[in-house]
Amino acid sequence: MEKRVYNFSAGPAVLPVPALEEAQRHLLALPGAGSSILEISHRSKTFTQIIEQAEANVRELLGIPDTYHVLFLQGGAQMQFAMAPMNLLAGTGKSADYVLTGSWGKKALSEAKTQGPTRVAFDGAAGNYNRIPNREELDLDPDAVYVHITSNETIGGVQFPTEPDTGGVPLVCDASSDFLSRPVSIERYGILYACAQKNAGPAGVTIVIIRDDLCRRSPPTLPSMLSYKLHADAGSLLNTAPTFAVYMVNLVTKWLLEDVGGLAAIDRINRDKAQLLYDCIDAAEGFYAVHAEPGSRSVMNVAFRLKDPALEEPFLKEAEQHDLVALKGHRSVGGCRASIYNAMPVEGVKALCQFMDDFRAKHG
Ligand SMILES: *Cc1c(COP(=O)(O)O)cnc(C)c1O
Repeated sequence: MEKRVYNFSAGPAVLPVPALEEAQRHLLALPGAGSSILEISHRSKTFTQIIEQAEANVRELLGIPDTYHVLFLQGGAQMQFAMAPMNLLAGTGKSADYVLTGSWGKKALSEAKTQGPTRVAFDGAAGNYNRIPNREELDLDPDAVYVHITSNETIGGVQFPTEPDTGGVPLVCDASSDFLSRPVSIERYGILYACAQKNAGPAGVTIVIIRDDLCRRSPPTLPSMLSYKLHADAGSLLNTAPTFAVYMVNLVTKWLLEDVGGLAAIDRINRDKAQLLYDCIDAAEGFYAVHAEPGSRSVMNVAFRLKDPALEEPFLKEAEQHDLVALKGHRSVGGCRASIYNAMPVEGVKALCQFMDDFRAKHG
């Protein structure tokens, strides 16, 4: 077998080996089905059990109350940038508040603008999106239909330590890059959505957790595939579901529940990994620098740069020679980024820290 490297890709990203191994074992024939997951109907009994188990796992991990639906949709997180305002904002005569802490939030705002009036409740542009606002800095409209946040900005590496208090206005959250990385109180959200390919599975499925009363607001004039209500009524089987992606989400959430021991356990592991890496960078101040301010630093995506930009290319090249791959920062900001999602083992982070220390000793 080809050896596996430490893959720090921001997404699609590293998956837990036990989940990949189970998929490999059962790829030719699912137990009891005699066919591959890639070959069976989305309406078969086998797949029905898989999607129901995936939903049950997500519900158990996050403690999701019965008043919320869990939907498995397509179109990625970016479809949700449009779908949330299409279902909740368009035609209401009200506006939606957007908290901008990085590139994804800005993109969500520009999509919402196609559907109705919006306000910017905070814009971190002045600090080049290196921090999360405190409550006093949020200029919230008490009549807004919702407040949109990005819990973790994957590109700049800034993360909300906890949900902001929106005073009763529903919180709509793009949690694509920190979904299932820590416990959250679902009751504090109107909608929490996440594409799977960062922390929950492969590309192709987006998980939308939506409170029932918001789900009922979908205008009947919407095309079916864009209506939360119709997807909820159909149990996410309005059309052919992304069967393999849902299957993988089931295996990844099973790994979280059975092997890791739930979200409090993965949260501790994730914090330890992030601490190791931030400590390594902070100890080399003058050589490496973190983009995010302390207090806003992401536990999932560590965005940093080398103080001497000329060393960046040799850094990435030598890292790759040490089997530490996909450390290049997003094209929009440059620099480097280590994505250390749930499935990145602590050994991978230790190997990266060791490499970074050695690189500095050689070039510093
Ligand atoms: C990756 C990512 C997206 C984009 O997801 P797609 O599935 O490609 O649409 C949106 N928001 C955040 C926070 C992300 O990390």
